[in-house]
Amino acid sequence: MNVGTASAAPGERATGTLEVTDLPTGGAERLPVILARGEREGPTLWLTGGIHGNEVTGVAAVQDVLRGGVSASGGSPDEADGVPEGLRGTVVCVPMCNPAGIRRVERTSYYHDDDPNRHFPPAEGDATRRRVQELIDERLYEAVVDSADALLDVHTAQVGSVPFVIRDRVLHGERREEGDAEALAERLAALADATGIPVVTEYPAEEYADRNLHRSTAGAVLNEAGVPSLTVELGGHETIAEPHRAAGVAAAYRAMVHLGMLDAVPEGIEAAAPTLESPVAFPVRRFRGPNASAAGFCRPRLEPGAAFAEGDPLADVVSPHGEARETVAAPADGYVLGWPSPTTYENDPVASLAVRDDDGLVVPRS
Ligand SMILES: [Zn+2]
Repeated sequence: MNVGTASAAPGERATGTLEVTDLPTGGAERLPVILARGEREGPTLWLTGGIHGNEVTGVAAVQDVLRGGVSASGGSPDEADGVPEGLRGTVVCVPMCNPAGIRRVERTSYYHDDDPNRHFPPAEGDATRRRVQELIDERLYEAVVDSADALLDVHTAQVGSVPFVIRDRVLHGERREEGDAEALAERLAALADATGIPVVTEYPAEEYADRNLHRSTAGAVLNEAGVPSLTVELGGHETIAEPHRAAGVAAAYRAMVHLGMLDAVPEGIEAAAPTLESPVAFPVRRFRGPNASAAGFCRPRLEPGAAFAEGDPLADVVSPHGEARETVAAPADGYVLGWPSPTTYENDPVASLAVRDDDGLVVPRS
């Protein structure tokens, strides 16, 4: 088993790099790879982090999975040989999928300032027109789909946000029968439930396509390659949040158990990150909003993780002098995932919410 220059025989852990493009100044852009191969055959689980360069908790979580779950400051790496005991199959970790973004601790890369998580799979048409970030993404995508039986792509949402796992809807149409889409959606739901982190279904199909999310890492590996893939959101930007890092590591181990790669989650990993329950008992989807009609400064009334009912006040938009201008109300039952920046222009969405979702998990591709 090898990914880039990382090559492991059964029972071995290996590190190496996946070269994704040459640099004009010499050398190459390389994505670090850590992989561990069990003594016995089994599925291949991929873990990716850092496609958004400021989402550093995801980087740390993916770095630590094959160090026995310990953080650089939180234990002795010598205690773990890096191959989870009794592993069947292979775990591939790529913690820094956007090195140019990570160098600047910014969401985008400096190759071009668009979202590096929207170029999967490669665009159809003339390959000579693809710019460097698209080529980097294409080479990563090809490496993932070459061997992955499942993928967790690890991100962060907002400062102070609660951890959640995003499950995309499965599209059917020309390239996939509805029955196959239903089977894939079922496998995806089971993997999501296994992570021990509350599950939030992605935006409705039209908004999903408008936001180009079918071309995100997890969206493309799921909807194009047909491999169960989830986006894991672990708290805020630019700083490593320890409980969220531990939750990400535990989610990876729970996925291994679910996929039949391990018999149980190691005790220390389970103890560091107990299973998190959803604040509500009904299925939810992501919702960015509601929108403020007035410009101002948004002052939340609820903490991330707090449940609300339709019509409940969520936040106040205040004037520069701190006087109330508008109270924004919940559009449906749900709970708060997190709060984006309080700086609010007219018609800006003020909250990141999980709201009741009764729509299907399988939808026709338009
Ligand atoms: Zn992200």
